[in-house]
Amino acid sequence: MDDYDVVVVGGGPAGVGAALTSAKLGLRTAIVERSTMLGGNWTNGYVLSILGGYTYDGSEKIVGGIADEIVETLLERKGTKGKRGNFIPFRPDEMKLSLSYLAAKYSITSYFGSLVVGAGVVNHRIESVKVSGKDGMKEIRAKFFVDSSGDADLAYYATANVSEGKEGAGWHQEATLPFRVGNVHEDEVLLFSREHPDLISVVIRENRLERLRVLKPLVEKAKKTHELYLPHDYSEFFFNTSRRGEFVCNATHVEIKDFKSGIEVANALNDLRHQVMSSLDFLSKEVTGFADAYLIDSAPNIGMRETRRAIGEYVLKRDDVLKNARFDDAIARCGHPLEIHDPEKGVAYVHLDGGDSSWYHIPYGAIVQKGVDNAFVIGRCLSAEFDAQASARVTGTALAVGQAAATAASQCIRAGTAARDVNIRALQASLREQGAII
Ligand SMILES: Cc1cc2nc3c(=O)[nH]c(=O)nc-3n(C[C@H](O)[C@H](O)[C@H](O)COP(=O)(O)OP(=O)(O)OC[C@H]3O[C@@H](n4cnc5c(N)ncnc54)[C@H](O)[C@@H]3O)c2cc1C
Repeated sequence: MDDYDVVVVGGGPAGVGAALTSAKLGLRTAIVERSTMLGGNWTNGYVLSILGGYTYDGSEKIVGGIADEIVETLLERKGTKGKRGNFIPFRPDEMKLSLSYLAAKYSITSYFGSLVVGAGVVNHRIESVKVSGKDGMKEIRAKFFVDSSGDADLAYYATANVSEGKEGAGWHQEATLPFRVGNVHEDEVLLFSREHPDLISVVIRENRLERLRVLKPLVEKAKKTHELYLPHDYSEFFFNTSRRGEFVCNATHVEIKDFKSGIEVANALNDLRHQVMSSLDFLSKEVTGFADAYLIDSAPNIGMRETRRAIGEYVLKRDDVLKNARFDDAIARCGHPLEIHDPEKGVAYVHLDGGDSSWYHIPYGAIVQKGVDNAFVIGRCLSAEFDAQASARVTGTALAVGQAAATAASQCIRAGTAARDVNIRALQASLREQGAII
């Protein structure tokens, strides 16, 4: 049977942060990923910017460590031009290549096309995960496990103790299929926005068109004539990818009630692809500057914002986020507002009480899986209330939290302790030594 020190379930930003750290700390590390690449929503869902590395106003760096190494690798490959405002835009294929390169550099064993479908638990310890792949069903053993599946899959298989959706209401944040368009004539869009400020709003940074939003009157008009199929009340929202004339669009939305249903996910993807086609037709006809634009690609898979969350030793609260909580067992910082994509009310941002230059702590208790001795839950399925997850899920934070989980696993393995009994001061000291910001 395959046997490791640490097995990471899910190779998204959180899992990558954990696996790279684990391997760098000298642990035999495997990452089990159902798709064929690392990066999760970055590479499969075309979430093409790292948010959370800085305060929301961009004034202070609040994530370091392993995140810096990933960004440096991207910079070397010209896969990013570095920080812009409060985020770091990058090219998806360069991210995919860079993460494969780093995984090989640190001798991580990757299992691709491999879905974790169960857990072997004995006396409150996860002994192994059950993995389904082309070679059938196999078990992979480890001393410590990290659930970075985004869906709290391992937490569910190991404890059946998870939470899902908005408390008391049950709805989920909507999912999106981002798409990229090229050959947008930025100067014409700018001119159009000056002539029609009621139809288009733009953000300009360093003399470049950074974002643009198609405003409600234009969207509503196109919807009435059936020219535009966007079932929910969102205006088109585009970010410049840092190449002239190239934008990524986050306008499509669908609510997936049961993310486990293959049929529902397929229907959602088909619906989202219809929204992409319709948006492109609409833009080329109605928005000056888009007449010659073409579709570069749409994301390979749906970008899921929120599905299932683990229940940990501590549950991060909405108030912790908004009131800039400081924790004694802090492992990372986050300054992202609550960002909620409500199927009924649309997109809303709730900013931290301390303003956009403030941040709160992610506590260690929110990544320690309750009910088992040797597992962490990180990334968008960490232990948090629905509203708190709406902030803490961003990928800069996911990397920092992944680094903390792997560092804790390393210390627990060496000391022979359960996750909940880690020496928190030693953990924080090691994280700081690795360049993390707490
Ligand atoms: C449209 C959209 C726009 C966003 N914009 C931004 C943004 O601009 N910047 C930002 O920082 N964040 C953004 N976010 C949030 C961010 O993408 C996620 O919160 C983040 O990807 C969470 O990382 P993760 O590693 O926890 O999960 P994911 O990225 O979801 O990765 C989970 C991984 O686990 C794998 N997996 C799942 N189940 C299993 C299993 N059972 N076995 C094996 N593998 C499994 C999946 O294939 C995936 O690779 C956005 C999200 C969406 C959807």
